[in-house]
Amino acid sequence: MGANEQLKPCPFCGGRAILKVNHGFNKEVISAFVYCEKCGANTRSYALERTANEAWNRRTNNDR
Ligand SMILES: [Zn+2]
Repeated sequence: MGANEQLKPCPFCGGRAILKVNHGFNKEVISAFVYCEKCGANTRSYALERTANEAWNRRTNNDR
């Protein structure tokens, strides 16, 4: 578990963003995405935690 960039609050509702990571048998990261625990907004799945994190932080209100 590396330290991640801080996730910005949800651009839609200001709720807390959660990084969800799916691990394989060898603990490797299979996919990762970020979602809002309040309104459920989410990114698509990415292969890397960092990519999902960056995608979320770059997100604007226009994306939905
Ligand atoms: Zn939200």
